[in-house]
Amino acid sequence: RAKMSGRATFSFYTAEMQAQMARTLRVENALRRALERDEMQLHYQPQCQAADGRIVGVEALLRWQHPELGWIGPAEFVPLAETNGQIAVIGRWVLDTALRQLRAWQLAGLPPLRMAVNLSAVQLRQPGLAELVGELLRRHEVDPAWLELELTETMAWDDPEGSARQIARLRAMGLRIALDDFGAGYTSFSHLSLFQAGTLKIDRSLVAGIERGSHQASVVAAIVNLARTLRMHTVAEGVETPGQREALLAAGCESAQGWLYGRPMPAEAFEALIRERQAPPPG
Ligand code: C2E
Ligand code: MG
Ligand code: MG
Ligand code: MG
Repeated sequence: RAKMSGRATFSFYTAEMQAQMARTLRVENALRRALERDEMQLHYQPQCQAADGRIVGVEALLRWQHPELGWIGPAEFVPLAETNGQIAVIGRWVLDTALRQLRAWQLAGLPPLRMAVNLSAVQLRQPGLAELVGELLRRHEVDPAWLELELTETMAWDDPEGSARQIARLRAMGLRIALDDFGAGYTSFSHLSLFQAGTLKIDRSLVAGIERGSHQASVVAAIVNLARTLRMHTVAEGVETPGQREALLAAGCESAQGWLYGRPMPAEAFEALIRERQAPPPG
């Protein structure tokens, strides 16, 4: 049967691959003008104390809306931007925009927040990264302690020592490093000490299955203990249900991020949310 359908299967895949390639070309072309055409935005997702939901931080997440192609997610276009080098310009825009927003919130009297910004592996390899970050912090008059840069450990595979040096330079400026997506794919424990990150973000794939004495629950508890030993703070990603929150609290995880606490949203909506949730009691 497999043999008989071989030909049809082949042409099916060819058509699909062609459509995929056409889409990639189209997206890549559109990406070149996305910033100058003002098609990109940052959305902001709260990072909360797991126990009481108090907002202690915020992650900036890149959004792109193209007039014809509609919303395109970062999981699709960030890898393209990494391949063609545009991530340098986009990444700079992300940092600039997130720090400008953070400063505006500080001046508007919002409760203190740490701003988390995702960094691409390609940015981490840029020689002038620390200088760029320093320049933007000064320009927006933001204390480095309020900035956290999120890295994924796959970034270090090519050049662990080079990555560690770059990260040390950033840490020396007084900002925080978070290790994103921990527990997804191939986790190398040696990277934990190499990076000396202050925050460990537990991947959504582990959080998804954590309810009620599951295997994942013990894995997460072990990760939280390990993080505590290394004096790292833990944030669970993709928390969607009260059951997951309970299991995370039982595992000792301090902070949580996910739809249960708030979706990524435009700046104005985030500001309204924090004012509503964290308003001082009346009278
Ligand atoms: P990430 O940094 O791990 O971000 C978390 C992703 O999970 C986000 O997807 C977020 O919208 C989603 N998420 C949050 N809470 C929940 C939940 O409760 N349930 C589910 N199902 N999903 C949730 P998003 O925004 O599509 O971003 C995907 C990835 O793209 C990010 O993963 C990050 O690696 C990358 N990315 C996003 N913004 C940037 C950026 O400015 N620069 C770089 N280099 N990468 C970025
Ligand atoms: Mg992240
Ligand atoms: Mg993540
Ligand atoms: Mg991710």
